[in-house]
Amino acid sequence: MTTEKSLNDAQELWSRTLSILQGKVSENTFHQWFEVIVPLALGDTTLKLGVSDDFFGEWLTENFGDILTNALQEAAGAPLQFQIESGHSRPAAPVPVSAAEEAPVPSSITQREVQQTAPNCNSRYTFENFVVGEENRYAFSAAQTAATSPGTFNPLYIYGGTGLGKTHLMQAVANYVKAMNPNAVVRYTTCEGFLNAYVDSLRNKTSAEFRDYYRNVDLFLVDDVHHLGGKEQLQEEFFNTFNAIYNAGKQIMMTSDKQPSEIKGLEARLVSRFESGVAAQITEPSFETRLAILRMKQEGQAFKLPDELLVFIAERISSHIRALEGARMRLVAFASAVGDSVPLTTEMASNLLGDMIDNEAEKNRVSIDRILDAVASHFNIKVHDITGSKRPKNIAEPRMVAMYLSRTLTDESLKDIGQAFGGRNHTTVIHAIKQVENDCRTNEELKRTVTALKRKLHARI
Ligand code: ADP
Ligand code: MG
Repeated sequence: MTTEKSLNDAQELWSRTLSILQGKVSENTFHQWFEVIVPLALGDTTLKLGVSDDFFGEWLTENFGDILTNALQEAAGAPLQFQIESGHSRPAAPVPVSAAEEAPVPSSITQREVQQTAPNCNSRYTFENFVVGEENRYAFSAAQTAATSPGTFNPLYIYGGTGLGKTHLMQAVANYVKAMNPNAVVRYTTCEGFLNAYVDSLRNKTSAEFRDYYRNVDLFLVDDVHHLGGKEQLQEEFFNTFNAIYNAGKQIMMTSDKQPSEIKGLEARLVSRFESGVAAQITEPSFETRLAILRMKQEGQAFKLPDELLVFIAERISSHIRALEGARMRLVAFASAVGDSVPLTTEMASNLLGDMIDNEAEKNRVSIDRILDAVASHFNIKVHDITGSKRPKNIAEPRMVAMYLSRTLTDESLKDIGQAFGGRNHTTVIHAIKQVENDCRTNEELKRTVTALKRKLHARI
């Protein structure tokens, strides 16, 4: 029976669980799958959660069961389990337009089911939301082929600089395949995520489960495989995973910041496997592509900048696409704050974006990878010590410094920095940044180290 106390306790625990989940899943997933859940009752070992219908409950359990259990147990500080009851949910959050909605729907799949996003993927990353220009046309069409005719281009290897849309394209493939066939086993992982899962499986003696999870798939997508470089044992496991999937005739897709042969410390047998399919490069976007992206990004937004300002941004910010979006958001924030009374001129825009335009070229060349290399060599440790899951004492400081530099010298989001550091949570990154800022006030040596590293990273330009 649900007492008032158990309901209050359930609500309180659920709101703590939600705050933990918020840092762990994409915003979209959070709105679509978690915010709509209604806490019902807290028992000794279970938290009962209300959802709209059985389908929702099954999907939630299948795709987010582990994340949910972990967050719940963290919030409760006890090994609680969740229990789903259908027929309760709040009205569902609006679902953003995605490939799933617009793609032709086979009659056997209901509209509800096609709105699925592949696990760990952002539902905004679709083919429809990807602007095609000369720089990415081949990669785009190869990705579409991988999605619609799996196994034809196998493996598919997309490479290019940061912020050019590699992850977007890869998740578009994942989302498309999942939308067309909800039963398809789609595994998207970053290279670091794969590493962490592998290390956990060794520690927990769950190698059989690990292999089963990554090898029995229809589609295997690994983001940023350049992180395999120099990690020998991981490469052995990856090689076996790759072969198992490839030999089963299933599609493999990888992204990287460089060609296989240019990845330092990558075994020859992997280089040749990676080169055996189709490789497509994405290069920096032209002015036309940049403008098209800006126009697309503001479609459907309540507040729109006039086209001349979009042209202004596209002309001045020429490198990666994340910076374009950052510039647009900055102008939108200003314009919506001052309202119609002060129309935004290009001169004002120039002032508002001043630092972005000036520093852009410089910021752009400092990547997380370069920061990791510089920090590792400064402290005389290995990059995977910094990004790995272990926490020995001598690694804590270099790791925090590297996170701090990644935040101050690049345009990467907290979430992406967390990802690049072995799939860590963005709150860990925030904590590291604050710690370095605080410590630099009192610790002269640390301050010198940070300054020296900054100088070194800029000097290599
Ligand atoms: P990468 O993985 O190459 O570093 P991402 O895929 O993370 O880059 O892209 C960075 C941001 O830019 C994302 O928000 C993505 O949606 C956007 N983006 C990149 N290329 C395009 C494109 N051609 N069309 C629309 N958005 C893009
Ligand atoms: Mg990426």
